[in-house]
Amino acid sequence: MKHYLWMLMGVTMISVAQPPIAIGLHGGAGTIERGAMSAELEETYRAALDKAITTGHERLLEGQSGLDVVVSVIQMMEDSPLFNAGRGAVYTWDGAHELDASIMHGKHLDAGAIAGVRTVKSPIALARAVMEHSPHVMLAGSGAEDFAIDQGFEPVSSDYFATERRREALKAHKANEQAGLRPEADHKFGTVGVVVLDQAGNLVAGTSTGGMTGKRWGRIGDSPIIGAGTYADNRSCAVSATGHGEFFIRHTVARDICARMQFAGVTLQEAASATVMEALVEAGGEGGVIAVDRTGSVVLVFNTPGMYRASIDAKGHKLLGIYGENDSQ
Ligand code: ASP
Repeated sequence: MKHYLWMLMGVTMISVAQPPIAIGLHGGAGTIERGAMSAELEETYRAALDKAITTGHERLLEGQSGLDVVVSVIQMMEDSPLFNAGRGAVYTWDGAHELDASIMHGKHLDAGAIAGVRTVKSPIALARAVMEHSPHVMLAGSGAEDFAIDQGFEPVSSDYFATERRREALKAHKANEQAGLRPEADHKFGTVGVVVLDQAGNLVAGTSTGGMTGKRWGRIGDSPIIGAGTYADNRSCAVSATGHGEFFIRHTVARDICARMQFAGVTLQEAASATVMEALVEAGGEGGVIAVDRTGSVVLVFNTPGMYRASIDAKGHKLLGIYGENDSQ
């Protein structure tokens, strides 16, 4: 960022200040309410969010690339049963797990995505492989699984993703639907996403999810769709979304926020609020986003009662939150 040059008694000393870095992450948005969660579980979530944000920030400080940081931090959350991504993914109507993920690099708008895969332990790693080792942006289903094998990914069985908590959620979802209740009512989302500004000035975004409980017919949400669930452009910002995917697809949420910044010249906060708190609210689309711009400011915006989230901006200001308010640290 700033370069200082000092002349001291004829000796030139150059001290280069650190370029700005910033990171934001989410672990899903939805009806996450105080009182509905035990103090112990809340503490477990906070610890997981804290560990992920601190690790990601340290890696950026060390000079790791935005891509490496986004993938490795998402993998920490994919490996945790707390989140609806990788292990702990929600169940489809048929009792399977179908995973979606995408990643985008803001320098040249490179992107990779996978949808509806059942045997891949780390969907975000496969999305990156699509970006780096295939001529395509998005692969789906059995084709994506074949590509994973070609790339040396070890397949896992569906047991790997299974958790009792998500099995119960499917049961509740089916009971609700049979009772004629709004199926969304029991959705506790839990998708994960990470956005960063790295030392090279690159903006990178990634998102990974099991989708929505009880999904059918090969349903694909917004998370693997570039422009809807994930977008990054060094000229504006990097965004990862979470929420009711159908709305995020129709409103091309992630791209919309970047485009507002780029073409309307508004701030990141204004752009994210206009899309999430106005356009989506008007349409009835529940969810939120995390986003970072090239100055290293980070926003965490959601129109649901809660969103698992954390950030450290370019000034080193750390936020962590689950419900409506952030804990500033
Ligand atoms: N957006 C995801 C989907 O619709 C779900 C979520 O974010 O929780 O598949």
